[in-house]
Amino acid sequence: MALRFLLFFALVYLFVSVLRSVFSWRRQQRDLRRREETKLGEEMVLDPQCQSYLPKGSALLRGGFYFCSEQCARLYLARPPS
Ligand SMILES: [Zn+2]
Repeated sequence: MALRFLLFFALVYLFVSVLRSVFSWRRQQRDLRRREETKLGEEMVLDPQCQSYLPKGSALLRGGFYFCSEQCARLYLARPPS
C-alpha cells in the first residue's frame, strides 16, 4: 500500500516537473519572440550614400551619419561637400 502511494507521488512529481519544463520553454520562446519584435520596432536610419533604411542598431555611425557599411561611409565622406 505504501509503495503504491510512493509510486503515485513519484508520478505526480514527474508530471509536475514535465509541465514546469514545458511552461518554462514556452516562456523562453515568448521572450525570444518579444525580443525579435522590439528589434523590428527599432528606429530606422537612412544611409545617405545608398539611400537605404536600416535599423539603427546595425548601422555604422560615421561623421554624424548612419551607414549600412564601411564602404558607404567612405564613399559618402570622401565626397566633396556640395
Ligand atoms: Zn549603404
